[in-house]
Amino acid sequence: MKKDKNIGFIGLGNVGSKIANRLLLSNYKLFIYDIDKAKTKKLLNKGANNCNNFKDLCLKTSIIITCLPSPNIVAEVIEGNNGISKYTTKSHLWIEMSTTDEHEIIRLTKKMNKKGTEVLEAPVTGGQHRAESGNISILVAGKRKNFNRAFPILSKLGYQILHCGKLGNASTLKVVTNYLASINLLSLGEALMVCKKYNIDLKTAYHAIRISSGNSFVHETESQVILNGSYDVGFTMDLALKDIRLFDKLTDKFKIPAEISKLMKKIFTEGIKKYGDRALSTSIVRSLEEKCNENLRSRGFPKKLKDTESKKKGIEIKF
Ligand code: NAD
Repeated sequence: MKKDKNIGFIGLGNVGSKIANRLLLSNYKLFIYDIDKAKTKKLLNKGANNCNNFKDLCLKTSIIITCLPSPNIVAEVIEGNNGISKYTTKSHLWIEMSTTDEHEIIRLTKKMNKKGTEVLEAPVTGGQHRAESGNISILVAGKRKNFNRAFPILSKLGYQILHCGKLGNASTLKVVTNYLASINLLSLGEALMVCKKYNIDLKTAYHAIRISSGNSFVHETESQVILNGSYDVGFTMDLALKDIRLFDKLTDKFKIPAEISKLMKKIFTEGIKKYGDRALSTSIVRSLEEKCNENLRSRGFPKKLKDTESKKKGIEIKF
């Protein structure tokens, strides 16, 4: 029998549900909890077990994974009334997969360690289509022995897995990489709009950028659903803004006179006012389309992103 066969999963949203599904596909026994019961339905139908509270979830598992929308909600789940820190023991390993605050993960780890519970941070990057295929990248930080314990599970969830060192490093790196992705998204909107106004066919523009030095992961993925008009990237504006704020917190902490993130925060705050918290992050480009009275549609682009590669066995990236 596999060690750590029973896994608890908290937070079954856009990306959490896809990661949890990979565990089911890998024959783990999955125990799930989401404050919104509608989010658990699909996985329950596929064989996951429902938990009505954290006590139940902790009693039945040795690994607990969280994939939650904000540092405040993570804190509530861990240390709130009847939070998981009340029920974990030295046999548990908590794997934090949310994009969160480096300071918070360090603070909560100290609390969990007092009970003998071990902690690993393991935020994911690469989009929900790669979470679905099991080829997402995972940035992991924390003790090597915890990494070794988690690796058989992580290798079922992702492909490129990097141990980034001490706790806090993975959260910081995740926030940094999302900052870069958001800059890319905003600049792609403006770039495609220039092409449109110049009357360049947008499919030609897409491929010109793709083969150029201006290419990026965001272009190869998000530009496609923007050009389709579905904007369906499975990542929402509230989360994009949360991540920019976390980046800002880091630049403030180190007194780095960063200017771009402040501007991005303003743009996404306006986007949320216009379209709402749960609008897709790519709708930020729609805002530009409306201001320019022009749309960025082109034929032949998919409504939804799909990873064309089948699951690759997770590997640790070494250099
Ligand atoms: P989401 O907002 O779609 O889902 C969050 C889930 O958490 C929801 O189902 C919600 O009901 C649940 N939840 C909220 N409060 C809860 C509570 N107190 N107890 C239990 N469940 C609760 O978010 P998501 O897109 O799945 O992202 C989750 C995390 O992963 C975020 O930190 C995000 O930044 C990060 N992330 C997302 C993506 C993506 O593409 N969506 C990619 C990488 C990382």
